[in-house]
Amino acid sequence: MPRPYNFSAGPAMLPEAVLEQAKAEMLDWRGSGMSVMEMSHRGKEFVSIAEGAEADLRELLNVPANYKVLFLQGGASSQFAMMPMNLLRGKAKADYLNTGQWSKKAISEAKKFCQVNVVASSEAVNFTTVPARDTWKCDPDAAYLHYTPNETIGGVEMDAIPEVGVPLAADMSSTLLSRPLDVSKFGVIYAGAQKNIGPAGLTIVIVREDLMGQTVAGAPTMLDYAAMAKEGSMYNTPPTYAWYIAGLVFQWLKAQGGLQVMGERNKAKAELLYKTIDESGFYRNPVDPAYRSWMNVPFILPDEALDKPFLAEAKSAGLLTLAGHRSVGGMRASIYNAVPLEGVKALVDFMADFQKRRG
Ligand SMILES: *Cc1c(COP(=O)(O)O)cnc(C)c1O
Repeated sequence: MPRPYNFSAGPAMLPEAVLEQAKAEMLDWRGSGMSVMEMSHRGKEFVSIAEGAEADLRELLNVPANYKVLFLQGGASSQFAMMPMNLLRGKAKADYLNTGQWSKKAISEAKKFCQVNVVASSEAVNFTTVPARDTWKCDPDAAYLHYTPNETIGGVEMDAIPEVGVPLAADMSSTLLSRPLDVSKFGVIYAGAQKNIGPAGLTIVIVREDLMGQTVAGAPTMLDYAAMAKEGSMYNTPPTYAWYIAGLVFQWLKAQGGLQVMGERNKAKAELLYKTIDESGFYRNPVDPAYRSWMNVPFILPDEALDKPFLAEAKSAGLLTLAGHRSVGGMRASIYNAVPLEGVKALVDFMADFQKRRG
């Protein structure tokens, strides 16, 4: 019996090969006599796992040498506060682009630390598009500009990296590693792991070195990029097991052919699903086609009364976790790296069949 396909937005599906390897190594990691969960984070075994994971991530993303890669805790939500605490560097203002629910959360947290200038917002159109770059009202005195390249809830993705005159900070929780990325265009990139990287509990931060070391007075050490970087993300006990699994995912991505190959696969998966939705005359996706996410695909059925049967029958067909976010309803298929094309094919076949029977 094959495993079902899981379309959860996060924690999300992991590559089966990674789970199998973790299972095989669970009780005894490579003859060490220990599970990775039982190892000292400062022992040579775990240090080799940690260093290998960082090296593989740097290779996948081609991370320039003047950037630190941090393996932290606290989720992307902690980064909403760490952003201003670390990046304001004596300034009083920061620019934020508002493209959805996660942008809004980042903005409200930043307001605790500085004056937030919302450069543009798509809230008036229910976050179904991204405001055109030439409408953004950037503040020349802003310490940085923050945006959310992929809004996980709305399914809105902005692939082009905006040119702005200040360091760019990006919440890439649901898009990092989905395709190639030019890291050198950013000041800080961060991502909670549980979407497209690994298990919950780990947060990846990639930060340009010259932006560190001017953290707001009174900042806890745990929230200071410079302090965490100095200790190799081991100021305290890091999330060792999540770090290890993320490392297995990075190896899996390299074995697939890297981010170019993943980008092509993700594009093909998304195109198949959007085409099915658009041509159905039954399902509907409200997002501006220019900004549709490759990772999170919300769609609605013509009648809310069909939601429950759709979800129940999908589950019986081995298609899990398709309910939309509680704030928007409808359906949402998250099709991160670990969801294979076969999974999307199974989903669109099911959708066509459901429409035939219920449409
Ligand atoms: C899931 C998500 C978050 C929140 O992540 P946590 O790790 O739960 O704090 C923030 N931003 C985006 C874009 C997300 O998808």
